[in-house]
Amino acid sequence: MMEKVSLAKGRFAPSPTGRMHLGNLFTALISWLSVKSEGGKWVLRIEDLDPQRSKREFSRLIEDDLAWLGLEWDEGGLDDRGPDGPYSQSCRHDIYAECLKRISASGLTYPCVCTRADIMATQAPHQSDGRVIYGGRCRPAAMPSTVPEPATPHSTRLYVPDREITFTDRVYGTHSVNLATHCGDFVLRRADGAWAYQLAVVADDALMGITEVVRGEDLLLSTAQQLYLYDLLGFKAPEFAHLPLVCNEAGQRLSKRDRSMNMEELRKTHGRHDILGLLAHKAGLTDSPRPAGLDELLEIFTWDKIRSAAAGS
Ligand code: GLU
Repeated sequence: MMEKVSLAKGRFAPSPTGRMHLGNLFTALISWLSVKSEGGKWVLRIEDLDPQRSKREFSRLIEDDLAWLGLEWDEGGLDDRGPDGPYSQSCRHDIYAECLKRISASGLTYPCVCTRADIMATQAPHQSDGRVIYGGRCRPAAMPSTVPEPATPHSTRLYVPDREITFTDRVYGTHSVNLATHCGDFVLRRADGAWAYQLAVVADDALMGITEVVRGEDLLLSTAQQLYLYDLLGFKAPEFAHLPLVCNEAGQRLSKRDRSMNMEELRKTHGRHDILGLLAHKAGLTDSPRPAGLDELLEIFTWDKIRSAAAGS
C-alpha cells in the first residue's frame, strides 16, 4: 500500500505562562484531530516571547500533559525535533529581525514612544484583555515614513490601512475587519526588544509550513492583522479555524487562575479518556461526555460537527 502523501500541517502554540487548562487542551485536541484525520503533521511551538511571564518549567508541564493525553507532536517541543526549528520563539530572534527589516523597507513602520500597548504586544490579544485602539500619537504626518530610528528606547509600530480585510474562517464564516478602527497601528517590536505576538506568529506559521491554524475564538479578529502581515511579507496565508471558548462556571473564558479546570487538578480526579470524552462532547463530536479514546475520535471527527456545536454554543 502506498503511504498517504499529505501536506496538511497544524500546530499548537501555547504560551508557557502557567499549567494548561481545559480550554488549552480543547484547542490542542481539535487541532491534532484535524491534521491527523488528514494524515498530516502536528507541530508544538513554544510561544515564550514574554521573558517575564514564560517559564521553562511550564513548557515541560505542557509537554507532559500533551503526552499524557496521547497528543504526540511530530515536530517542535523543547528538544526542537524537526526541520523548521528552533521551535521556541525565544530562540527565533534573527528570523523576526529579518521579517521586520523586510516590512520596514516598505516605509510602513515608525518608531513609537507610547507604552501600554507596547507592553501588551507579546501577548496574544484575547478579547477579554481589554485592549485599546492606538490613536496614532507617534505616527509621522506622511506615510510611507522616512523618520529615522531615534537613539532612545522606542517600539516599532506598523501603519495600518483604512480598508476592510475580509477572510473566511472554517468555523465562524466570513468576516471583514478594518484595522484602522479595530486596533489602529500595531506594535511589531517592543521598546525592550521583545517581539510582538502578531509578527512572530505570522513568521512562524509561514516558515514552519503551517496550512491550518486552529485556536480559540477570542483570536478570530487577530486574523485580519495577521493576513495584513502575510501580505506585506509575501507569504501564503494558512486556513484559519477558530473554536468556541471553554468557559468557567461564571461564563468567563478560562484563565490560568481557574485552578479546578487546570491539568494539575484534573489529572488527580480524571483519567485521560474522561478528559478526552469531555472535550469531544464539548466539540460536538459525541452525544454525551462519556469517556473516549483518540482512535475513536479520529474516526468520527469532522469540521461539520464542530461548526454545528459552535453555532449552538
Ligand atoms: N500563544 C497563544 C496563546 O497561548 C496562541 C496564539 C495562536 O494560536 O495563534 O494564547
